[in-house]
Amino acid sequence: MTAREKVSQIAQRLEKRFGRLRWRSHGDPLDVLILTILSQNTNDQNRDRAYESLKKRFPTYESIVRTPAERVAEAIKVGGLHRQKARRIQEILRRIKRERGAYDLSYLKDLSTEEAVQELLKFDGVGKKTAGVVLTFSLNKPYFPVDTHIHRITQRLGLVKKNQDPHDVMNALVPESLRYQLHLHLIWHGRQTCTARKPRCAQCVIADLCPYPKKLRAGSQS
Ligand code: SF4
Repeated sequence: MTAREKVSQIAQRLEKRFGRLRWRSHGDPLDVLILTILSQNTNDQNRDRAYESLKKRFPTYESIVRTPAERVAEAIKVGGLHRQKARRIQEILRRIKRERGAYDLSYLKDLSTEEAVQELLKFDGVGKKTAGVVLTFSLNKPYFPVDTHIHRITQRLGLVKKNQDPHDVMNALVPESLRYQLHLHLIWHGRQTCTARKPRCAQCVIADLCPYPKKLRAGSQS
């Protein structure tokens, strides 16, 4: 079985388990970018709390930019790394306004996916995962984002090797039409079954496609 066939099988099994998902916009691309920056090194709950607090205190992008960085940091403190994140958010907003004349990323929609990824990577603190989240969830321009759950699972499945860039590998393997749904399904699979410490391989719907249990057994016998 080729790696692409394996991905297709995995996608089918996970769809059966979690159901088919219809794409829905997760918001304006600049809002999603800020939310994703706030999600770095924290959980979803604290990310959302930091975002709500930011929006409440600074309802416009202009007001975020015009406020001293320490006050922005104070507003997002609950999410951790607040000084760094505040600085980055302000720098990104200033750059977008300087280069585009407005706080607006919707022009990315008209670029190719690769061009749009490169545009986002120009910002300090934005990597391929963040770029992928913005493009996939806001603009329906799917670039498969690899978070820690997906990185762990794809390594266990033997799709991504240790020395490989997981985004390059997975974007070559996952067809565009599957990227949104498979991204979410793999995260749910990672939270419920293929957990970091103790994967529940006996209950896993893709166990027959995964070399990891065999490796574990071989390791425990040696
Ligand atoms: S068999 Fe185990 S390691 Fe492989 S995907 Fe399933 S839970 Fe994860």
